[in-house]
Amino acid sequence: MKLKCRNWLLVFPVVIAWFAISCSDKSDDTPEEKGLPEVVATSTMVADMVRTIAGDDLKVIAMMAPGVDPHTYEPPARVYSDLRLADAIIYNGLHLEGKMTESFESQGDKTLALTDNLPSDRLISPENIDEKYGDPHIWGDASLWALSIPTVVAKLSEINPEMKAEFEARGAAYQKEVTALNEWIISRINEIPEANRILITSHDAFSYFGKAYGVQVIGVQGISTVDEPSGADILNTIDLIKDKGVKAIFPESSVSPAVIQRISKDSKVTVGETLFSDSCGPLGEMESRNGETYDLGTYIGMMKHNVNAMVAALK
Ligand SMILES: [Zn+2]
Repeated sequence: MKLKCRNWLLVFPVVIAWFAISCSDKSDDTPEEKGLPEVVATSTMVADMVRTIAGDDLKVIAMMAPGVDPHTYEPPARVYSDLRLADAIIYNGLHLEGKMTESFESQGDKTLALTDNLPSDRLISPENIDEKYGDPHIWGDASLWALSIPTVVAKLSEINPEMKAEFEARGAAYQKEVTALNEWIISRINEIPEANRILITSHDAFSYFGKAYGVQVIGVQGISTVDEPSGADILNTIDLIKDKGVKAIFPESSVSPAVIQRISKDSKVTVGETLFSDSCGPLGEMESRNGETYDLGTYIGMMKHNVNAMVAALK
């Protein structure tokens, strides 16, 4: 088919525009287009830390979407090719990513488990909880989470040494923000009368939080969400709510709310707002409270949401 003259008149501006874009400054290219080294990060909290430190100087592949339960996460096939091709893999460890642990370990030196690089006396060990592995929910204690920042800076510098100074600067800035978050949590939790500092949630994701900020924590479902809670677990929780006069219990964003709803129905206790336990919220979803606005898709935003929700319901 021949192109008529008027068709050319339509096509010509498109060709000009394409040519202009092709010849434009390449500074807006994505990290992938720049051919940058690639780093895979597992949970949304790990991905947030890695993204914050990496900036535009690495391609960051976030493995899990917001709301995904890392304990039961089974990846689609493409994830295995991401792992093979990646220059670094950064994961939480202590079997948070239960089904993926072996795949990470088989990738050798390019992997980094944050929990492997924390002081062992800061970790909740298997002997203290009736579990095969230690408690992986380290981000609940912001001061402990901050200890992983230099480890991530070092790993990213290893795969893109030219940008070491940038990673260090962003790591130092993030360290300040997470330290400020830690101070903020301490002062907010102090607003809850001591007798009311009891946090009942779907599963045992808040032990580090409880230990750091002086809150008694009860997870109906244990450390992992793989097993369902027993009838006895549920009855014990209801007894405790009645005994201690607990003001509210909390569902979690990455776990079914059914058990919390059932306990609330049987004990008449209030259901508080949904907490982000093993996943941040959707990136870019903003929340404004107490005169500040934060992104629920970030680690700092998720922690602020959780603490604000606890204070509102338990105060
Ligand atoms: Zn968990």
